[in-house]
Amino acid sequence: VKEKKEDAKIEGAIQIAIGIKKEVDFAGWYTNVLIKAEMMDYYNVSGCYILRPWSYSIWEVIQDWFNARIREMEVQNAYFPMFVSSKVLEREKDHIEGFSPEVAWVTRAGNSDLEEPIAVRPTSETVMYPYYAKWIKSHRDLPLKLNQWNNVVRWEFKNPQPFLRTREFLWQEGHTAFLTKAEADTEVREILELYRQVYEDLLAVPVIPGIKSEKEKFAGGLYTTTIEGFVPTTGRGIQAGTSHCLGQNFSRPEMFNIFVEDPNDPTGQGKVYVWQNSWGLSTRTIGVMVMIHGDNQGLVLPPRVASIQVIIVPCGITAKTSDESRKAINDKCEELSKSLKSVGVKAKADLREGYTPGFKFNDWEQKGVPLRLEIGPADLAKQQTLSVRRDTGTKAPLPLADLMASVPKLLDTIQADMFKRAQDTYFSRLREVTRWEDVVPTLEDKCVAVMPWCEEEACEDDIKERSARAAEPQDERAPSAGAKSLCIPFDQSKWPPIEPGKTKCTACGKDAKRWTMFGRSY
Ligand code: AMP
Ligand code: ZN
Repeated sequence: VKEKKEDAKIEGAIQIAIGIKKEVDFAGWYTNVLIKAEMMDYYNVSGCYILRPWSYSIWEVIQDWFNARIREMEVQNAYFPMFVSSKVLEREKDHIEGFSPEVAWVTRAGNSDLEEPIAVRPTSETVMYPYYAKWIKSHRDLPLKLNQWNNVVRWEFKNPQPFLRTREFLWQEGHTAFLTKAEADTEVREILELYRQVYEDLLAVPVIPGIKSEKEKFAGGLYTTTIEGFVPTTGRGIQAGTSHCLGQNFSRPEMFNIFVEDPNDPTGQGKVYVWQNSWGLSTRTIGVMVMIHGDNQGLVLPPRVASIQVIIVPCGITAKTSDESRKAINDKCEELSKSLKSVGVKAKADLREGYTPGFKFNDWEQKGVPLRLEIGPADLAKQQTLSVRRDTGTKAPLPLADLMASVPKLLDTIQADMFKRAQDTYFSRLREVTRWEDVVPTLEDKCVAVMPWCEEEACEDDIKERSARAAEPQDERAPSAGAKSLCIPFDQSKWPPIEPGKTKCTACGKDAKRWTMFGRSY
């Protein structure tokens, strides 16, 4: 009773495991969830975090899945050094302009200053392409398709957030070279489709594939395709993964000079500068998943990425329970865990002594285990177990006899339901906006403004400026309140057709080209 009174004093507080409510202080809730679920820990270099096994195992699931897919596309894994000389890094002007404010430099070794400072890669285009020039000698060396799983460093000054925006992060970066633009274009979209599947099929996180505006495209690239995610609690978009076509910007003679003799030129004199792509998916994936599915009890893991999918907890054991009966229950838990593992379910029996079932429930709920099975003397007598879903809290008895079929089915249902709920929410927050005065209210309602847009850079700058000025003052830790273009969705069919010469840009009134998503973002 005393505790309840204490709590009631704090406005909006309720008895919740995580201590901070998701709807009240989202940033505080997010880090609390990550700490309590043992996903990460803080580190004494700002912007850097420790990935503990509970999160790193999710990254490994993504790695395994993605490696299998790119292997089918004949992409090979390799590893390049993390250091890059300033001369090479600065070769592509637009590229380095985009990245230079965030590049970290090594200037000293031991007690002596380096003659030439060495950069830590913010991405590896300039690290790899001198060697592409060396290795690609004939059209028979094409396509060249390499990928690396590595860390990169971007010394960002925006407010860091674990997983979402960190100064060092893990990712994969693919770098490919082709003879023709058509091949490059095809691959850009194939990779983007894989990224969509990582989010939607593994992490149960809905995304919208599209193309970035000129302003938001990758520095030095030709065009950038993206999958855009959305965090409903804050109403902010998040760039979830990007697949870039670099065109011939890096291969041209003044750059890295990567060419082959033109196989279609009868004189044998013609040169073709290769068409290049680069694509990357980072540990941001994990943060987006946590933000979307987590609740006031903690993390909620989609079954496909959970390293424990089913936790089996012995219940109803009291001081009066006979040793024999206690052993029977524990043995049953262990036996069920073994049989579930034999049908591919990642199960675990929690037989820790000295902890109450209530403590264990709470513990695994915080860690987001998708399904709990409770087994007590009464359940055993009835040859059943009580199942409890993490995502909905729904409880249902399951007969032990067909658990090996019912549990995998239930996990599939949880996975599908989690995705469906998140997708319904995302779609419900896409608002068609054709009048400027509706833009800021749309943002204030934590929605994305989808508007007919002229696609001009000056107009995008203007939208950001005008929407920031009109907005309510924001939490100083929050990113800018102005709206930027998130993406131009490939699938335009959700909105009425743009009529050339007739449909006008919501922001400036010029002719609109395509429906474009504008929103606040991370
Ligand atoms: P980019 O090479 O800039 O296109 O980045 C590739 C992907 O990495 C982006 O789509 C983001 O999802 C992710 N990313 C970019 N910056 C960070 C960061 N500071 N921390 C974590 N992930 C990031
Ligand atoms: Zn415009």
